[in-house]
Amino acid sequence: MSPVTPDQPAANINVNERAAWLALLEELIRHDTTSNRSNLGLIEAIRDLLRAHDVEAWLVYDSGRQKANLFATLPAVRGGTNGGVVLSGHTDVVPVTGQHWSSDPFDPVVRGDRLYGRGSCDMKGFIAVTLGLLPDIQRRRLREPLHLAFSFDEEVGCLGAPLLLAELAERGIRPSGCIVGEPTGMRPVVAHKGNNAYRCCVRGLAAHSSRTPSGVNAIEYAARLICRIRDNADALRRNGPFDRAFDVPFSTAQTGMISGGIAINTIPELCEFFFEYRNLPSEDPEQFFEQIARYARDELEPEMRTVADVASISFEKVGTTLALDSAERAAVTRLVRSLCSDFETRKVAYGTEAGLFSQAGIPTVICGPGSIDDAHKADESVELSQLAECDRFLRRVLDTLTAD
Ligand SMILES: [Zn+2]
Repeated sequence: MSPVTPDQPAANINVNERAAWLALLEELIRHDTTSNRSNLGLIEAIRDLLRAHDVEAWLVYDSGRQKANLFATLPAVRGGTNGGVVLSGHTDVVPVTGQHWSSDPFDPVVRGDRLYGRGSCDMKGFIAVTLGLLPDIQRRRLREPLHLAFSFDEEVGCLGAPLLLAELAERGIRPSGCIVGEPTGMRPVVAHKGNNAYRCCVRGLAAHSSRTPSGVNAIEYAARLICRIRDNADALRRNGPFDRAFDVPFSTAQTGMISGGIAINTIPELCEFFFEYRNLPSEDPEQFFEQIARYARDELEPEMRTVADVASISFEKVGTTLALDSAERAAVTRLVRSLCSDFETRKVAYGTEAGLFSQAGIPTVICGPGSIDDAHKADESVELSQLAECDRFLRRVLDTLTAD
Protein backbone atom coordinates (compact mmCIF):
# COMPACT_ATOMS: atom_id res chain seq x y z
CA MET A 1 0.00 0.00 0.00
CA SER A 2 1.51 3.31 -1.03
CA PRO A 3 1.55 6.21 1.45
CA VAL A 4 -1.36 8.55 0.91
CA THR A 5 -0.73 11.97 -0.55
CA PRO A 6 -0.59 14.86 1.92
CA ASP A 7 -3.79 16.83 2.02
CA GLN A 8 -5.37 19.91 3.50
CA PRO A 9 -7.59 19.81 6.58
CA ALA A 10 -10.46 21.55 4.86
CA ALA A 11 -14.17 21.31 5.49
CA ASN A 12 -14.75 20.40 1.87
CA ILE A 13 -12.96 17.51 0.24
CA ASN A 14 -10.31 18.67 -2.20
CA VAL A 15 -9.07 16.59 -5.10
CA ASN A 16 -6.06 15.17 -3.25
CA GLU A 17 -8.09 14.08 -0.26
CA ARG A 18 -10.73 12.46 -2.40
CA ALA A 19 -8.03 10.67 -4.35
CA ALA A 20 -6.43 9.51 -1.09
CA TRP A 21 -9.35 7.50 0.25
CA LEU A 22 -10.49 6.46 -3.20
CA ALA A 23 -7.11 4.98 -4.08
CA LEU A 24 -6.87 3.36 -0.66
CA LEU A 25 -10.31 1.80 -1.00
CA GLU A 26 -9.47 0.41 -4.42
CA GLU A 27 -6.34 -1.13 -3.01
CA LEU A 28 -8.16 -2.63 -0.02
CA ILE A 29 -10.79 -4.22 -2.29
CA ARG A 30 -8.09 -5.79 -4.49
CA HIS A 31 -7.09 -7.90 -1.48
CA ASP A 32 -9.60 -10.75 -1.57
CA THR A 33 -10.29 -11.09 2.15
CA THR A 34 -13.33 -13.36 1.95
CA SER A 35 -13.69 -14.83 5.45
CA ASN A 36 -12.49 -18.31 4.38
CA ARG A 37 -9.16 -16.86 3.20
CA SER A 38 -6.18 -15.25 4.92
CA ASN A 39 -6.38 -11.50 5.49
CA LEU A 40 -2.65 -11.15 6.15
CA GLY A 41 -1.83 -9.45 2.84
CA LEU A 42 -4.24 -6.64 3.60
CA ILE A 43 -3.31 -6.40 7.29
CA GLU A 44 0.39 -6.21 6.49
CA ALA A 45 -0.26 -3.53 3.86
CA ILE A 46 -2.11 -1.46 6.47
CA ARG A 47 0.69 -2.06 8.99
CA ASP A 48 3.23 -0.82 6.43
CA LEU A 49 1.14 2.23 5.61
CA LEU A 50 0.90 3.09 9.32
CA ARG A 51 4.65 2.59 9.67
CA ALA A 52 5.22 5.05 6.83
CA HIS A 53 3.38 7.54 9.03
CA ASP A 54 5.47 6.64 12.13
CA VAL A 55 2.66 4.65 13.71
CA GLU A 56 3.57 1.23 15.06
CA ALA A 57 0.68 -1.25 14.96
CA TRP A 58 0.46 -4.60 16.70
CA LEU A 59 -1.21 -7.70 15.33
CA VAL A 60 -3.21 -10.40 17.10
CA TYR A 61 -3.19 -13.64 15.10
CA ASP A 62 -5.66 -16.51 15.01
CA SER A 63 -4.41 -19.91 16.20
CA GLY A 64 -3.28 -20.93 12.68
CA ARG A 65 -1.53 -17.56 12.09
CA GLN A 66 -3.41 -17.19 8.81
CA LYS A 67 -5.42 -14.19 9.93
CA ALA A 68 -4.78 -11.22 12.16
CA ASN A 69 -6.43 -8.28 13.86
CA LEU A 70 -4.56 -4.99 13.80
CA PHE A 71 -4.55 -2.39 16.53
CA ALA A 72 -2.72 0.91 16.53
CA THR A 73 -2.68 3.89 18.84
CA LEU A 74 -1.89 7.40 17.68
CA PRO A 75 -0.88 8.78 21.05
CA ALA A 76 -1.80 12.11 22.55
CA VAL A 77 0.75 14.89 22.48
CA ARG A 78 2.44 13.81 25.74
CA GLY A 79 2.49 10.19 24.70
CA GLY A 80 -0.79 9.33 26.46
CA THR A 81 -2.46 6.17 25.18
CA ASN A 82 -5.40 5.88 27.56
CA GLY A 83 -8.83 7.27 26.88
CA GLY A 84 -9.54 8.50 23.39
CA VAL A 85 -11.67 7.05 20.64
CA VAL A 86 -11.37 3.78 18.71
CA LEU A 87 -12.28 3.68 15.02
CA SER A 88 -13.20 0.08 14.35
CA GLY A 89 -13.87 -2.02 11.25
CA HIS A 90 -13.68 -5.60 10.07
CA THR A 91 -11.38 -6.52 7.19
CA ASP A 92 -13.16 -9.67 6.00
CA VAL A 93 -15.89 -9.75 3.36
CA VAL A 94 -18.65 -12.20 2.47
CA PRO A 95 -18.21 -14.64 -0.46
CA VAL A 96 -19.20 -13.83 -4.04
CA THR A 97 -20.00 -17.49 -4.76
CA GLY A 98 -23.05 -17.93 -6.97
CA GLN A 99 -23.59 -14.17 -7.39
CA HIS A 100 -23.78 -12.55 -10.82
CA TRP A 101 -21.61 -9.43 -10.86
CA SER A 102 -21.49 -6.92 -13.72
CA SER A 103 -17.73 -6.58 -13.16
CA ASP A 104 -14.96 -8.35 -11.24
CA PRO A 105 -15.87 -8.01 -7.52
CA PHE A 106 -12.18 -7.67 -6.60
CA ASP A 107 -11.34 -5.16 -9.32
CA PRO A 108 -13.14 -2.03 -8.11
CA VAL A 109 -14.71 0.32 -10.62
CA VAL A 110 -16.37 3.73 -10.31
CA ARG A 111 -19.61 4.15 -12.24
CA GLY A 112 -21.43 7.43 -11.73
CA ASP A 113 -21.35 8.40 -8.04
CA ARG A 114 -20.70 4.86 -6.83
CA LEU A 115 -17.73 2.61 -6.37
CA TYR A 116 -18.45 -1.08 -7.03
CA GLY A 117 -16.56 -3.98 -5.47
CA ARG A 118 -16.84 -6.60 -2.73
CA GLY A 119 -16.40 -4.84 0.60
CA SER A 120 -16.86 -1.33 -0.83
CA CYS A 121 -19.81 -0.81 1.50
CA ASP A 122 -19.27 -3.51 4.15
CA MET A 123 -16.86 -2.17 5.25
CA LYS A 124 -13.61 -1.32 3.53
CA GLY A 125 -14.96 2.13 2.65
CA PHE A 126 -14.84 3.16 6.30
CA ILE A 127 -11.36 1.66 6.75
CA ALA A 128 -10.07 3.53 3.65
CA VAL A 129 -11.43 6.86 4.86
CA THR A 130 -9.88 6.23 8.28
CA LEU A 131 -6.47 5.50 6.75
CA GLY A 132 -6.81 8.55 4.52
CA LEU A 133 -6.74 10.70 7.67
CA LEU A 134 -3.17 9.75 8.56
CA PRO A 135 -1.42 12.80 7.05
CA ASP A 136 -3.94 15.07 8.80
CA ILE A 137 -3.44 13.26 12.13
CA GLN A 138 0.33 13.58 11.83
CA ARG A 139 0.00 17.35 11.70
CA ARG A 140 -2.22 17.53 14.76
CA ARG A 141 -1.38 17.72 18.45
CA LEU A 142 -3.84 15.23 19.91
CA ARG A 143 -5.18 15.95 23.39
CA GLU A 144 -6.51 12.40 23.52
CA PRO A 145 -5.30 9.38 21.55
CA LEU A 146 -6.97 7.94 18.49
CA HIS A 147 -7.00 4.15 18.16
CA LEU A 148 -7.53 1.99 15.08
CA ALA A 149 -8.94 -1.53 15.41
CA PHE A 150 -9.28 -3.71 12.31
CA SER A 151 -10.49 -7.26 12.86
CA PHE A 152 -10.84 -10.55 10.97
CA ASP A 153 -13.77 -13.00 10.71
CA GLU A 154 -16.58 -10.64 11.66
CA GLU A 155 -18.79 -12.07 8.94
CA VAL A 156 -18.53 -15.61 10.28
CA GLY A 157 -19.54 -14.93 13.87
CA CYS A 158 -17.22 -12.20 15.20
CA LEU A 159 -14.32 -14.58 15.81
CA GLY A 160 -11.47 -12.05 15.60
CA ALA A 161 -12.61 -9.13 17.75
CA PRO A 162 -12.69 -11.05 21.08
CA LEU A 163 -8.97 -11.86 20.68
CA LEU A 164 -8.26 -8.20 20.01
CA LEU A 165 -10.27 -7.06 23.03
CA ALA A 166 -8.55 -9.60 25.29
CA GLU A 167 -5.17 -8.25 24.17
CA LEU A 168 -6.32 -4.68 24.83
CA ALA A 169 -7.27 -5.64 28.38
CA GLU A 170 -3.94 -7.46 28.78
CA ARG A 171 -2.05 -4.35 27.72
CA GLY A 172 -4.17 -2.13 29.96
CA ILE A 173 -5.37 0.05 27.08
CA ARG A 174 -8.70 1.62 28.02
CA PRO A 175 -10.26 3.74 25.28
CA SER A 176 -13.19 5.82 26.43
CA GLY A 177 -15.34 5.24 23.36
CA CYS A 178 -15.58 3.40 20.06
CA ILE A 179 -17.14 4.10 16.69
CA VAL A 180 -17.84 1.01 14.57
CA GLY A 181 -18.05 2.14 10.95
CA GLU A 182 -20.56 -0.41 9.62
CA PRO A 183 -22.85 1.07 6.94
CA THR A 184 -25.54 3.22 8.58
CA GLY A 185 -25.81 6.01 6.00
CA MET A 186 -23.62 8.07 8.38
CA ARG A 187 -26.34 8.15 11.01
CA PRO A 188 -25.65 7.13 14.60
CA VAL A 189 -27.07 3.73 15.54
CA VAL A 190 -27.21 2.97 19.24
CA ALA A 191 -28.55 -0.57 19.39
CA HIS A 192 -28.72 -3.82 17.46
CA LYS A 193 -29.99 -7.28 18.11
CA GLY A 194 -27.89 -10.20 19.23
CA ASN A 195 -27.53 -13.25 17.00
CA ASN A 196 -27.15 -16.80 18.24
CA ALA A 197 -26.46 -19.55 15.70
CA TYR A 198 -26.81 -23.25 16.42
CA ARG A 199 -26.16 -26.55 14.68
CA CYS A 200 -28.48 -29.42 15.51
CA CYS A 201 -27.63 -33.06 14.73
CA VAL A 202 -30.42 -35.61 14.85
CA ARG A 203 -29.27 -39.24 14.90
CA GLY A 204 -31.93 -41.87 14.20
CA LEU A 205 -31.79 -45.46 13.02
CA ALA A 206 -31.65 -46.50 9.37
CA ALA A 207 -33.96 -49.23 8.04
CA HIS A 208 -35.67 -50.25 4.82
CA SER A 209 -38.32 -47.65 4.13
CA SER A 210 -41.05 -50.29 4.00
CA ARG A 211 -40.39 -51.05 7.68
CA THR A 212 -41.03 -47.68 9.29
CA PRO A 213 -41.68 -49.09 12.81
CA SER A 214 -38.12 -50.53 12.87
CA GLY A 215 -36.35 -47.25 12.13
CA VAL A 216 -36.06 -43.79 13.65
CA ASN A 217 -36.49 -41.20 10.94
CA ALA A 218 -33.97 -38.43 11.64
CA ILE A 219 -35.48 -36.07 9.07
CA GLU A 220 -38.94 -36.33 10.59
CA TYR A 221 -37.67 -35.61 14.12
CA ALA A 222 -35.63 -32.70 12.77
CA ALA A 223 -38.79 -31.45 11.05
CA ARG A 224 -40.70 -31.53 14.34
CA LEU A 225 -37.95 -29.49 15.99
CA ILE A 226 -37.92 -27.02 13.13
CA CYS A 227 -41.69 -26.61 13.38
CA ARG A 228 -41.28 -25.93 17.11
CA ILE A 229 -38.66 -23.26 16.32
CA ARG A 230 -41.12 -21.67 13.92
CA ASP A 231 -44.03 -21.90 16.38
CA ASN A 232 -41.98 -20.24 19.11
CA ALA A 233 -40.84 -17.56 16.66
CA ASP A 234 -44.48 -16.93 15.70
CA ALA A 235 -45.35 -16.53 19.38
CA LEU A 236 -42.63 -13.89 19.73
CA ARG A 237 -44.01 -12.08 16.72
CA ARG A 238 -47.54 -12.20 18.16
CA ASN A 239 -46.86 -11.51 21.81
CA GLY A 240 -43.53 -9.66 21.91
CA PRO A 241 -41.70 -8.35 23.82
CA PHE A 242 -41.55 -5.46 21.37
CA ASP A 243 -39.14 -2.59 20.84
CA ARG A 244 -40.65 -0.27 18.24
CA ALA A 245 -37.33 1.45 17.52
CA PHE A 246 -36.27 -1.68 15.57
CA ASP A 247 -37.46 -2.16 11.99
CA VAL A 248 -38.36 -5.74 12.97
CA PRO A 249 -39.61 -4.89 16.48
CA PHE A 250 -39.46 -8.37 18.06
CA SER A 251 -36.91 -11.17 18.49
CA THR A 252 -36.83 -13.55 15.51
CA ALA A 253 -35.76 -17.13 14.78
CA GLN A 254 -35.42 -19.19 11.64
CA THR A 255 -33.87 -22.37 10.22
CA GLY A 256 -31.42 -21.57 7.43
CA MET A 257 -29.81 -24.85 6.27
CA ILE A 258 -30.65 -28.53 6.39
CA SER A 259 -29.25 -31.79 5.08
CA GLY A 260 -30.14 -35.42 5.68
CA GLY A 261 -30.97 -38.80 4.18
CA ILE A 262 -29.28 -40.89 1.49
CA ALA A 263 -32.12 -42.42 -0.57
CA ILE A 264 -35.89 -42.22 -0.82
CA ASN A 265 -36.26 -45.89 0.13
CA THR A 266 -34.04 -45.69 3.24
CA ILE A 267 -35.19 -44.35 6.58
CA PRO A 268 -32.67 -41.55 7.19
CA GLU A 269 -30.23 -42.09 10.02
CA LEU A 270 -28.87 -38.54 10.11
CA CYS A 271 -30.22 -35.05 9.71
CA GLU A 272 -28.38 -31.84 10.44
CA PHE A 273 -29.76 -28.32 10.38
CA PHE A 274 -28.75 -24.81 11.40
CA PHE A 275 -30.98 -22.26 13.05
CA GLU A 276 -30.55 -18.83 14.55
CA TYR A 277 -32.21 -16.68 17.15
CA ARG A 278 -31.87 -12.91 16.96
CA ASN A 279 -32.69 -11.37 20.29
CA LEU A 280 -33.69 -7.85 21.26
CA PRO A 281 -31.00 -6.39 23.57
CA SER A 282 -33.45 -6.65 26.49
CA GLU A 283 -33.89 -10.42 26.02
CA ASP A 284 -31.81 -13.27 27.42
CA PRO A 285 -30.10 -14.84 24.37
CA GLU A 286 -30.21 -18.35 25.87
CA GLN A 287 -33.88 -18.51 26.79
CA PHE A 288 -35.17 -19.34 23.31
CA PHE A 289 -32.58 -22.08 22.86
CA GLU A 290 -33.44 -23.60 26.24
CA GLN A 291 -37.05 -24.03 25.13
CA ILE A 292 -36.00 -25.85 21.97
CA ALA A 293 -33.42 -28.00 23.76
CA ARG A 294 -35.97 -28.93 26.44
CA TYR A 295 -38.49 -30.06 23.81
CA ALA A 296 -35.79 -32.23 22.21
CA ARG A 297 -34.64 -33.66 25.52
CA ASP A 298 -37.98 -34.19 27.27
CA GLU A 299 -40.29 -35.15 24.41
CA LEU A 300 -38.52 -36.17 21.20
CA GLU A 301 -35.50 -38.12 22.48
CA PRO A 302 -37.50 -40.38 24.84
CA GLU A 303 -39.85 -41.18 21.96
CA MET A 304 -36.95 -41.95 19.60
CA ARG A 305 -35.33 -44.21 22.20
CA THR A 306 -38.35 -46.45 22.46
CA VAL A 307 -37.10 -47.76 19.09
CA ALA A 308 -33.30 -47.30 19.30
CA ASP A 309 -31.02 -46.54 22.25
CA VAL A 310 -28.52 -44.86 19.94
CA ALA A 311 -31.00 -42.21 18.84
CA SER A 312 -30.06 -38.72 19.95
CA ILE A 313 -30.43 -35.01 19.34
CA SER A 314 -27.41 -32.82 19.98
CA PHE A 315 -26.84 -29.09 19.69
CA GLU A 316 -23.78 -26.94 19.25
CA LYS A 317 -23.62 -23.15 19.38
CA VAL A 318 -21.69 -22.09 16.31
CA GLY A 319 -21.86 -18.31 16.46
CA THR A 320 -22.66 -15.45 18.79
CA THR A 321 -23.07 -11.77 18.13
CA LEU A 322 -23.78 -9.89 21.31
CA ALA A 323 -26.59 -7.38 21.19
CA LEU A 324 -25.71 -3.70 21.47
CA ASP A 325 -27.55 -1.21 23.63
CA SER A 326 -25.39 1.89 23.84
CA ALA A 327 -25.61 4.03 26.91
CA GLU A 328 -27.56 7.11 25.90
CA ARG A 329 -25.42 9.19 28.24
CA ALA A 330 -22.03 7.86 27.10
CA ALA A 331 -19.72 10.61 25.86
CA VAL A 332 -19.17 8.88 22.52
CA THR A 333 -22.92 8.58 21.92
CA ARG A 334 -23.41 12.27 22.57
CA LEU A 335 -20.35 13.16 20.49
CA VAL A 336 -21.43 11.21 17.41
CA ARG A 337 -25.01 12.42 17.66
CA SER A 338 -23.99 16.04 17.90
CA LEU A 339 -21.44 15.76 15.06
CA CYS A 340 -24.12 14.14 12.86
CA SER A 341 -26.82 16.54 14.14
CA ASP A 342 -28.99 13.46 14.49
CA PHE A 343 -30.57 12.74 17.86
CA GLU A 344 -33.06 10.08 16.80
CA THR A 345 -32.80 6.72 18.59
CA ARG A 346 -31.88 4.38 15.75
CA LYS A 347 -31.74 0.62 16.21
CA VAL A 348 -30.98 -1.99 13.55
CA ALA A 349 -31.60 -5.71 13.12
CA TYR A 350 -28.17 -6.72 11.79
CA GLY A 351 -25.33 -7.53 14.14
CA THR A 352 -21.87 -5.97 14.46
CA GLU A 353 -18.81 -6.11 16.71
CA ALA A 354 -20.16 -3.13 18.64
CA GLY A 355 -21.79 -5.39 21.25
CA LEU A 356 -18.39 -6.95 22.01
CA PHE A 357 -16.69 -3.57 22.47
CA SER A 358 -19.56 -2.45 24.63
CA GLN A 359 -19.38 -5.58 26.79
CA ALA A 360 -15.63 -5.00 27.17
CA GLY A 361 -16.49 -1.71 28.89
CA ILE A 362 -15.92 0.57 25.89
CA PRO A 363 -19.07 2.61 25.13
CA THR A 364 -19.75 2.13 21.42
CA VAL A 365 -21.91 3.54 18.65
CA ILE A 366 -22.21 2.49 15.02
CA CYS A 367 -21.82 5.13 12.34
CA GLY A 368 -20.41 4.52 8.88
CA PRO A 369 -20.79 5.21 5.17
CA GLY A 370 -23.12 3.37 2.80
CA SER A 371 -26.36 1.48 3.15
CA ILE A 372 -26.72 -2.00 4.58
CA ASP A 373 -29.09 -2.64 1.65
CA ASP A 374 -26.06 -2.53 -0.67
CA ALA A 375 -24.01 -4.99 1.42
CA HIS A 376 -23.48 -8.72 0.83
CA LYS A 377 -25.10 -8.81 -2.61
CA ALA A 378 -23.88 -8.85 -6.20
CA ASP A 379 -22.64 -5.46 -7.41
CA GLU A 380 -22.05 -4.26 -3.83
CA SER A 381 -21.36 -0.55 -3.98
CA VAL A 382 -21.01 2.62 -1.95
CA GLU A 383 -21.83 6.20 -2.86
CA LEU A 384 -18.73 8.37 -3.10
CA SER A 385 -20.70 11.15 -1.43
CA GLN A 386 -21.14 8.88 1.60
CA LEU A 387 -17.39 8.35 1.81
CA ALA A 388 -16.86 12.10 1.55
CA GLU A 389 -19.38 12.64 4.36
CA CYS A 390 -17.58 10.04 6.46
CA ASP A 391 -14.30 11.86 5.83
CA ARG A 392 -15.80 15.16 7.03
CA PHE A 393 -17.33 13.43 10.05
CA LEU A 394 -14.06 11.78 11.11
CA ARG A 395 -12.16 15.05 10.76
CA ARG A 396 -14.69 16.61 13.13
CA VAL A 397 -14.08 13.71 15.52
CA LEU A 398 -10.37 14.50 15.24
CA ASP A 399 -11.08 18.17 15.97
CA THR A 400 -12.60 17.17 19.31
CA LEU A 401 -9.47 15.15 20.16
CA THR A 402 -7.04 17.89 19.11
CA ALA A 403 -5.36 20.27 21.57
CA ASP A 404 -5.93 23.98 20.96
ZN1 LIG B 1 -19.93 -5.58 8.18
